[in-house]
Amino acid sequence: MRFTYVTLFQNLIEGYFQDSILKRAMDKALFDVDFVNPRDYTANKHLKVDDTATGGGAGMVMTPQPLFDALKALKEEGDVHIIFTTPVGKPFRQNDAKRLAKKSRIAFVSGRYEGIDERVIETFADELFSIGDYVLTGGELPSLVMSDAIARNIEGVLGNIESLDTESFETPLLEAPSFSKPALYEGSAVPSEYIKGNHSKIAALKFAMSEAKTKFFRPEQLLKHKKRTSYEK
Ligand code: SAM
Repeated sequence: MRFTYVTLFQNLIEGYFQDSILKRAMDKALFDVDFVNPRDYTANKHLKVDDTATGGGAGMVMTPQPLFDALKALKEEGDVHIIFTTPVGKPFRQNDAKRLAKKSRIAFVSGRYEGIDERVIETFADELFSIGDYVLTGGELPSLVMSDAIARNIEGVLGNIESLDTESFETPLLEAPSFSKPALYEGSAVPSEYIKGNHSKIAALKFAMSEAKTKFFRPEQLLKHKKRTSYEK
């Protein structure tokens, strides 16, 4: 798998891969990353990549020419799945992360300013994703958020594959609370069942806590869970 970041600000992204799990995965050649800067493709003699909005409106818009040329060149290199980051895209979810982990190459296009000329999106987008109902200054963080979630689903990236199965959003229920050592810390104790070591009782307690957490934080997910379990019965 290769992640290609189409961005004016490569530095904002690079640092993320210089530490921790994703660095180790890159060292093991489980995926790699590269960058395309639309400014390298601009025909503007002042290296501009943005202009005022046609028809009026506040702010600048990324012009079509640099991105058209950059993305055409990218597609000529071979198979690539092109994702545009935008607040108007569909919400990015765990299922998308799992599905996209099977691609051989994904390019994330980061907008800046007031966004990207719509003709670029219409011509090149395989998918449009939003990472939430708020507006950020650029697509670099959304690109990183999505690629991190996708990378965790590439075989070999996580040491313990089980940690994927029990994670939140693998089923409609959120993950049960986790505890570490010591069993008693500053007067606050780990649930006693966890310490006794009866695995079926621990599993039952974890399930009940999962349901309670989901009911509190994500009631709509609990409804999904209830529908699913009543259907399975
Ligand atoms: N004018 C645009 C609008 O109201 O929909 C917002 C543009 S935003 C300031 C600049 C860029 O940041 C976007 O082109 C996109 O790449 C990225 N962006 C901002 N918020 C995002 C979000 N919630 N999800 C994904 N990308 C986002």
